Amino acid sequence: MVNPPVRVLARGFSVSREHDRQALFILRHHRGFPAAAAAFVEQVGERIFVVARALGQFQDNCLVFFHDGENSSISGMTTTPSLPGLFIVRHPLVQHKLTILRDRRTPTKIFKELVDEIAMLMAYEATSDLALEPAEVDTPLERMQGQRISGKKLTLVPILRAGLGMVEGILKLVPSARVGHIGLYRDHETLQPVDYYFKVPGDAGERDFLLLDPMLATGGSAVAAIDSLKRAGAVRIRFLCIVASPLGVARVHDAHPDVPILCAALDRELNERGYILPGLGDAGDRLFGTR
Ligand code: URA
Repeated sequence: MVNPPVRVLARGFSVSREHDRQALFILRHHRGFPAAAAAFVEQVGERIFVVARALGQFQDNCLVFFHDGENSSISGMTTTPSLPGLFIVRHPLVQHKLTILRDRRTPTKIFKELVDEIAMLMAYEATSDLALEPAEVDTPLERMQGQRISGKKLTLVPILRAGLGMVEGILKLVPSARVGHIGLYRDHETLQPVDYYFKVPGDAGERDFLLLDPMLATGGSAVAAIDSLKRAGAVRIRFLCIVASPLGVARVHDAHPDVPILCAALDRELNERGYILPGLGDAGDRLFGTR
C-alpha cells in the first residue's frame, strides 16, 4: 500500500512531502515561523515547538518541530526519526485496545479492564531491557543454567488517582514489584503542583521506578512527581502513560532528560482546559465512574 503523502497544514514549512509513516520528526532550524503556523507554535522553556497536523494520519498525527536557535536553514534541517526519550508502543493489541478506550461509549467496567491490559502490555515493553543474570535450575530431568532478572527491584508509582488504574495490570506481570504512591495538588497561589502524599520504599536509589499516569497532558504533575522521586533518591525512572501530548513530552524531557517516556499514542494538542485532543477524556473519572 502506498502511504498517503503528508501535507503539513502550516504553510511555509515543506508544503507537501512523501512520508515514511514515521510521523515524528525533530527539525532544527532558525527561521521565524510563518504566520500560518502561529496557531501551532508553543514555547516550552527555551524551546519553541510546532505541532503540525498531517493529513491522512489517524493518530500520532503530528510532526513536532523543535526550534533551538541553531544557525541553519529549513532546507538544511537535521531530522531525527523520533523524539529522543519518547517511545511509542505501536503493538497492534495496544493500538486496538486504545481505540476502544477512546470511545466515549465505552463503559467504566470495560475502560478499567482496558487500562489494566494496556498497562500490562506497555510494562512488557518498558521492562524489555532489564538486566539478567545466570541462574541454575533443576528441571525434572537435569540441572541447567537459566536466567533471572538481576539485582534492582521494580517499584511502581502511580500518580493519584488515575495512575492507580495501571497498577494491577503491571503487577500481573511483575508480582514482586513494590508499589509507592504520589498524590499531587496544585497550589492556588504558586500554581505549582505540590505533593500531599508521597510514599516509596526506603532504598529508592537501588530500585527501578515505573511512574504511572495514563495521561501526560501539561507535564506539570509528571515533572513534580519525578522531582519528588529524585529527592527521595531515585535514579532510574521511566514514565509510563497511555496518551501523551507534545507539550507534556517536551516539558518532561526539558526538566528530566534522563527519564524515558513510554506512551501508546502521542496526540495532537491540549485544549484550553488542559485536556488532550483527541484524547480519551478524564481518565480518572472514566476509571472510577465519577464523571
Ligand atoms: N487528564 C486527563 O484525565 N485527561 C486529559 O485529557 C488530560 C489530563
